Amino acid sequence: MTDRYQTFTRTPLGKALVKNLGLPDPTPLPRWTDGSAVIDGPVVFGASAETDTGKAIQALLRDIGASFSTAAEGVASSELRPKALVFDATGISSTAELTSLQRFFSPVIRQLGTAGRVIVVGRTPELATSPEQQIAQRAIEGFTRSLGKEVKRGATVNLVYVAPDAHDQLDSTLRFFLSPKSAYVSGQVVRVGTGPLVGNDPSAPLAGKVALVTGAARGIGAAIAETLARDGAKVIGVDVPQNANDLRHVMSAIGGSELLLDVTAIDAPQRIAAQAQEQGGLDIVVHNAGITRDKRLANMRTDVWDAVLDVNLRAPERITDHLVSSGALHDGGSVIGVSSIAGIAGNNGQTNYATSKAGVIGLVQTLAPRLAERQIRINAVAPGFIETEMTARIPFAIREVGRRLNSLQQGGLPIDVAETIAWFADPASAGVTGNVVRVCGQSLLGA
Ligand code: NAD
Repeated sequence: MTDRYQTFTRTPLGKALVKNLGLPDPTPLPRWTDGSAVIDGPVVFGASAETDTGKAIQALLRDIGASFSTAAEGVASSELRPKALVFDATGISSTAELTSLQRFFSPVIRQLGTAGRVIVVGRTPELATSPEQQIAQRAIEGFTRSLGKEVKRGATVNLVYVAPDAHDQLDSTLRFFLSPKSAYVSGQVVRVGTGPLVGNDPSAPLAGKVALVTGAARGIGAAIAETLARDGAKVIGVDVPQNANDLRHVMSAIGGSELLLDVTAIDAPQRIAAQAQEQGGLDIVVHNAGITRDKRLANMRTDVWDAVLDVNLRAPERITDHLVSSGALHDGGSVIGVSSIAGIAGNNGQTNYATSKAGVIGLVQTLAPRLAERQIRINAVAPGFIETEMTARIPFAIREVGRRLNSLQQGGLPIDVAETIAWFADPASAGVTGNVVRVCGQSLLGA
């Protein structure tokens, strides 16, 4: 599961070949480790106008101990290698004012450091106060998605749209996008709405919470379980009885509990609810269990179609429904689906899988407004190429293309998906619901 090409590009011969032949040059991406700072370098902040959002961003930068300067100071200082460029674009109210993006970024973008971060904060277009503002704010998506394809050396570019009066909800989202926790998330657009102010300890944001993770015995599910436990949650890990040993191994390392069942079983929702109630109910539900059974549609048998739809979509639908209606999922809880970029872009041989994963997006979009009545949030991640057993089985040539076809020119790690889920699960992300965030290094497949 190691990326041998990337290792080779770090050798003297590899460096020379990459340079002379113009080959992909994937920068090793730093990941977050216990005790590391949110961001370990200077930040340059800019704004189209002075706004409450800008004040909230600067307060956060002070709070996390970042050394930051404003655009004017930053451009003037020599030898500056900013680790992050953060721009408050909420003040942009007409297309003419989009020029403030170019004025801020053009002089500083070349100086952005290795694995740097670019974050643009805009106003949610649908909630703009005038048609002119709505058009201009929508336009920013094109800017950030293009800049994500231009920046090099492992840098990421993301756009956070904030609703009016929701600037007090930005903290957990900005911490995530500034830090190495978002190493493999680029070219994404996130919407942050209003919500209750939840003050928690950023080093243990899930303390006292109970989390259910399906498919927790290995791969991405094991990383999710470990990451939620790292953040303080008690984890109930679900997997099929055949994987009992692996599940026990993962759960015993994190002090979690096991529940052996097939998520498609008729009584799975009731059994999950019963186990959850023994632990005082659930705060977080992660529907990670998933399977692929690839066949072109012309060769697709009904049982193969059904198996994929049942595990990937019907089980999350039924389990969520029961946990919500039975009250096993607390008000204020968080549900997280695991979709896939195949569910967005479609994929040859995966009509069943892509249908199921697009359905997970449907689940998020349909339930987000309904569950909001109980302050329950629902979001999804859509992973791209993640280095797991599943992708290690892909034939070499196809695997190599899958790995490189993204702005960061490498595969992601299970931890990258897990960190994104942990940000969704954080109660301080109270304003984050209805989002689908791709963890794909800005894959060239799909929008
Ligand atoms: P994996 O096959 O390594 O692990 C999946 C786990 O789910 C296994 O432990 C399996 O036993 C469990 N599981 C499967 N069916 C189950 C059922 N009916 N009941 C209970 N448990 C069941 O897969 P992974 O690569 O870790 O993928 C995890 C999730 O991420 C899946 O939903 C997958 O579709 C999605 N995903 C993965 C990638 C990738 O590149 N690996 C990309 C996009 C999406």
